[in-house]
Order: sequence, then structure tokens, then C-alpha cells
Amino acid sequence: MAVIRVRTTKHTSFVNITNQVREIVKGYGIKSGLCLVYVPHTTACVFINEGADPEVIRDIAYAVEKLIPWRDDYAHSEGNSAAHIRSALIGNSRIVPIENGDLALGTWEAIFLADFDGPRERKVIVRVLKED
Ligand code: ZN
Repeated sequence: MAVIRVRTTKHTSFVNITNQVREIVKGYGIKSGLCLVYVPHTTACVFINEGADPEVIRDIAYAVEKLIPWRDDYAHSEGNSAAHIRSALIGNSRIVPIENGDLALGTWEAIFLADFDGPRERKVIVRVLKED
């Protein structure tokens, strides 16, 4: 198991962690298998989407804010219900196939950690499973 530590800098941060995950996978030296990317937090999550044009990520942040506004009639006393809901909907893990010793991501795909209640330090757990 490997852990990536990410220090986010804003209240809402999307951090491209593809290179860190890729380095971990390559370190295992396996040809094919699965890579689990897991975020052990309740107000942060992980997703895969376009990493080439930063406007896509900006638009995702915009849409998330519109769909799940920070202020609404929430009950949770900590005051960060929107961050919990956003993370629950996006999900806290992804599995990426490993082919030819590398992540089998699409040409435009990247792996993003999304922090909806930063800035703070976040952990991403990476597990690599070898296919026989
Ligand atoms: Zn909370």
C-alpha cells in the first residue's frame, strides 16, 4: 500500500494526482492488474475526468456548486454538509486497469482528488493488485 499526501490550498480544490499514482504503479513493475485509488475522508473524494483542458475542471466545480450549494437548509451542526454530500455523490474510490505496466487511462483522462472542505492535508491510498 502506498499513500499520497496532498496539501490543498483552497476551500474547494481539484488536484491532479495522476503522475503520483502512475509512479506508484510503475514502482511495482507489474505488467497487468488493477490500481485502487481510495480517499479515506468524508469531505474529499476522487474522480477521473479530462486533465488536458483546465476549463473542464472549472466547469465541474461550477456545476457542483450549483447543484449542491454551500448554504442551504442542512442539519449537520459542523456546517459542512455540502462537502459531505458532494463527496458522497462523487465517491471516495476509483479502480483503474493496469496494462503494459502503466495506468490504462484514456488519452484525455486524469485522476483528481477533490477537496470540498479545505484547505487541509488529505491522504490518498493506492493499492496495486497484480493479475496473474
Ligand atoms: Zn461535517
